[in-house]
Amino acid sequence: MNPDILSDMPLSYRKIVPVLLPYPFKEPFDYIIPHDLKIEKIIPGTLVIVPLNQRKEIGVVWQDHVLSGNLSLLSTPKKEKRKLKEIISILPIQPLPRVLMQFIDWMANYNFTESGSVLAMAIRNIRTLTVPLKKEYGWIKTSPLPTNLKITEKRKKILDFMNIPDQAYTTRELTENLHIKPSVIYGLEKSGGIFKQPLTNFTQFSKPDPNFHQPSLSEEQTKATTFLKKQVDKKKFSVTLLQGITGSGKTEVYMQAIASCIEQNKQVLVLLPEIALSAQWTNRFYKRFGVNPALWHSDLGLKHRKQTWMAILKNEVFVLVGARSALFLPFYDLGLIIVDEEHESSFKQEEGVIYNARDMAIVRAKLSSCPIILVSATPSMETLINAHQGKYFHLTLTKRHGGAIMPRTELVDMKIHPPEKGHFLSPPLVKATQEKLDKNEQVLFFLNRRGYAPLTLCRACGYRLECPHCSAWLVEHRCTRKLVCHHCDYSIPVPLECPHCNTKNSLVPIGPGIERITEEASITFPDAKILVMSSDCLNSPKMTAEAVRRIMQKEVNLIIGTQIVAKGWHFPDLTLVGVIDADLGLTGADLRAAEKTLQLLHQVGGRAGRARFPGTVIIQSFLTDHPVMETLIKGDFNQFMIEEAHERKAGFWPPYGRLAAIIVSADTNQDALETAQELGLNAPSRDGVIVLGPAPAPLSLLRNRYRQRLLLRTHKSIAIQPILHQWLDPIKPKKNVKITVDIDPISF
Ligand code: ADP
Ligand code: ZN
Repeated sequence: MNPDILSDMPLSYRKIVPVLLPYPFKEPFDYIIPHDLKIEKIIPGTLVIVPLNQRKEIGVVWQDHVLSGNLSLLSTPKKEKRKLKEIISILPIQPLPRVLMQFIDWMANYNFTESGSVLAMAIRNIRTLTVPLKKEYGWIKTSPLPTNLKITEKRKKILDFMNIPDQAYTTRELTENLHIKPSVIYGLEKSGGIFKQPLTNFTQFSKPDPNFHQPSLSEEQTKATTFLKKQVDKKKFSVTLLQGITGSGKTEVYMQAIASCIEQNKQVLVLLPEIALSAQWTNRFYKRFGVNPALWHSDLGLKHRKQTWMAILKNEVFVLVGARSALFLPFYDLGLIIVDEEHESSFKQEEGVIYNARDMAIVRAKLSSCPIILVSATPSMETLINAHQGKYFHLTLTKRHGGAIMPRTELVDMKIHPPEKGHFLSPPLVKATQEKLDKNEQVLFFLNRRGYAPLTLCRACGYRLECPHCSAWLVEHRCTRKLVCHHCDYSIPVPLECPHCNTKNSLVPIGPGIERITEEASITFPDAKILVMSSDCLNSPKMTAEAVRRIMQKEVNLIIGTQIVAKGWHFPDLTLVGVIDADLGLTGADLRAAEKTLQLLHQVGGRAGRARFPGTVIIQSFLTDHPVMETLIKGDFNQFMIEEAHERKAGFWPPYGRLAAIIVSADTNQDALETAQELGLNAPSRDGVIVLGPAPAPLSLLRNRYRQRLLLRTHKSIAIQPILHQWLDPIKPKKNVKITVDIDPISF
């Protein structure tokens, strides 16, 4: 590999450098280079330790005017020289790549935040680099197991869970995921079933073998592959939408593009919407390339992340698969970026720095001069329109691999086939499920709602149990016997009487969550082996890997899950998908409700019939005439989206215009409203700019903060950031009032 480290610049006459610190600072601070530091070692990107308010902090020697490409190492110091502090030392590692610094500045500017906040995301994992870490240990399964090993039920649980070969599992992972005591683990060690190993080297980051296993591709796949390989070879920026029906082999196709990139010794970044997916993805990668890819997500230990971070900086990593934060890794030589399931809203980070990782990945590719592939069966509106307008290349795969056919979709009109009172499974769904279970095939019930019931109501006085800190109902979780707020995690034990009128035993659950569906299913299908998949029970990739193993090995035949099951899973024996409440996302004022519901239901339906047996999707709905339902039956997704887009064109709603949400939050509604109204009065007025609001934000109370919202919409030809600056910069709200800007909000 050939790292593009910046050539040194003549610095002998410059003793002051700008250093960006990982805090909400818009700009770098000036620091003096002391005499005992080698000045030529300090170039833009160098990591240094500097004093900041009596503390030592890691910062990065920044560059002025990155965007204009002028890399002068400093203009005039902003403070008087004698007030400037000195750099303490230089970290003995490579400087950050220049493209990463450009990306950070661009990102900050576009998303209306500070460069320092974005830098914090990029170097968060090395902040403690100088602090020695305590030794961590993990457990590895002995292979083969000793013949005389006594396998108790708890031990079996552990051994089954450790199903990734040679992978070390920490004590915490085992105890938390399996609900066992550490003593069981130690016992198993004594008997020789597992052994202890220091977690020193997590992966060797060895080079994947592009020819390890070459699949034979279909004609369609070959065509798409040839095109993508050409893009990789060009080493230029381009965006390609790879759209193909579920199970058409999109992953197989983009793996070919990855192979090309590996042959050229360039780095590949693959973004997945959900870390839970990384286990199945890694397995697949292993089969194709003979090694594991590097991983990146928040669930990995600090040490693991540090090693990976350093390896990337040293250009030792070839392929990295990760969650959105992987965008900020210090890649020197990216040759390809892939965003799988690009339409997923989890690519949007809604807290801290608000950004859309899909969009930022495109920028990162542009700055790195490499191609990017956006992959989806149901692309987002933005992507689809860009492809239609010829801004993106558009590849389509229309056939499922190996002759599998697309599932047949049936609507069950819940007005005509109502379930029994207090039940949620309609007779047609029950019948179809029983048939599949009898044939030893697998069934999936999908309901996008965690917990037992979304609402608890008093039968006597009509009181609804609400979160005291948020404008949201408390959701009953029967397994923990608690009422929980899904927005702030506030929880109380389920009360025995109504907190309002004190009537005893008057509280009733209203509507279903997946716990309730599980309860009903276990009564309706007493012989079914049920597995629940929701973020409440699958809280780590290893836990998910275990669930996937149980499905693949057919230890279960009825899977009940929330949106986590809708992702890109491949379960060959799954032949029926039942959507319990298809109307769930369609109510409410969100302009994107139809688009999102269609994507979700299409995606979950796509889990059915992916291999030998044909699949069926049964959709329970009260709104059987809704265009979304019609589209699900007819399957013409793109046509629906293009018509939807057309309706947004006139009002220049996205994707035809630019949009920003301005959220004003405060401790009291009064304060939030005052500032929001002030913003309203000073709203920019010119052609092609529209301001809506203020109005209460969708969650008007969140974690004790009252929230008002304004929407700024501009014509596509008008840049939204300068308008925001002009508008918001002069506003000086009270101390407890906070103004947050969300560029390209995903709900509006
Ligand atoms: P998608 O990503 O479009 O949903 P996948 O890439 O997951 O589809 O492919 C679906 C299934 O078909 C997977 O099990 C995959 O391994 C298999 N498959 C796809 N293309 C090929 C191929 N050319 N040769 C062998 N298996 C393939
Ligand atoms: Zn709450």
